[in-house]
Amino acid sequence: MTVFRSAFSYDAAPMRVRFGAGVVAELPEEVVRLGLRRALVLCSPEQEETGQAISRALGAHSAGVLAEARMHVPVEVARRARERAVELDADCCVAVGGGSAVGLGKAVALEHGLPVVAVPTTYAGSEMTPVWGITENGRKRTGRDRRVLPASVLYDPELTVGLPVGLSMTSGFNAIAHAVEALYAPDRSPIISLMAEEGARAMAEALPVVAADGSDLDARTLALYGSWLCGACLGATTMSLHHKLCHVLGGALDLPHAPTHTVLLPYALAYNQDAAPDAVEALRRAWHGQDPARRLWDLSGRLGTPRSLRELGMAEADIERIAEEAVRDPYANPAPVTYEGVAGLLRAAWGGEPPVPG
Ligand code: NAD
Repeated sequence: MTVFRSAFSYDAAPMRVRFGAGVVAELPEEVVRLGLRRALVLCSPEQEETGQAISRALGAHSAGVLAEARMHVPVEVARRARERAVELDADCCVAVGGGSAVGLGKAVALEHGLPVVAVPTTYAGSEMTPVWGITENGRKRTGRDRRVLPASVLYDPELTVGLPVGLSMTSGFNAIAHAVEALYAPDRSPIISLMAEEGARAMAEALPVVAADGSDLDARTLALYGSWLCGACLGATTMSLHHKLCHVLGGALDLPHAPTHTVLLPYALAYNQDAAPDAVEALRRAWHGQDPARRLWDLSGRLGTPRSLRELGMAEADIERIAEEAVRDPYANPAPVTYEGVAGLLRAAWGGEPPVPG
């Protein structure tokens, strides 16, 4: 019998989600339903074609396309999006793409009050969180604000078929990382734990099928379903050691976001497993009884994703300073966060050794 041993709070995020192959065709109705008229479509330059297709589908409800979304949301791009929205008489944005496009939509919502409708095409999960980030003069400010939550999210698996397989794998691991850390978060709750277990199950089941055939719509559907659940977990809980390390590695060494998550997750989970028995139990249920950290490491090997920080370009000599930075400020984590522990974790992850619990 699983018993939720600690007291909890749960705030439901006021978001509408539509899910299904072809659902993006219903964007015009969705915009009208929200009491909005004309949307500026935001996407990255690489996805301009998708942005234009969405704009055509919106018909009279499209004000145009701004294909300038980039990682880390430069403030100039957010300002330009607002100016374009005013020029083109838009009263909302539709953000189509991964965390970069959704992040741009959130920045416009935060700074200028324009609501955003999200159409996610990766598994990063930003569309389900109140977390925003804006980069100005080389510094990224981040925060949580309910005003940036999309008014509506349309998950259409057909739009994810073109996501390159390599990116799909690391993006999927990024999603699983949200579920894993939600399962041992200090502010976890029974409903989020259910979503995390199911999200981790769905994503781990879908990824090998997507790896074999990126155009398999059933597998894409399962993966996108998993990413929705995992994103909701990220939005509702406080992340721990794994996310802290990814943040430090990204900031200090500019390591790529999703591959860094992919490499580190088995090691961060192994570090916490003994101190997080409920999370381990949930992940064992989701993943056919196997040791969860080892299961993730095996999965990444099978999927051909990077398995070491060395492969991502980190120098061994950087291990100490990253460990120092990761332990400087205290934060919640199931196992005590010590310099020796984190340096050991980083050494194992740097070399790509099998993860060892504790
Ligand atoms: P991304 O949005 O930068 O997309 C990566 C690349 O893939 C882009 O070139 C994009 O155009 C392309 N792409 C996306 N979907 C595609 C598709 N279906 N077909 C073909 N190409 C496609 O990457 P990401 O990993 O989704 O997002 C990473 C960013 O999001 C980071 O800046 C991260 O900090 C942020 N993020 C924020 C939150 C949050 O809660 N605020 C959560 C997760 C990630």
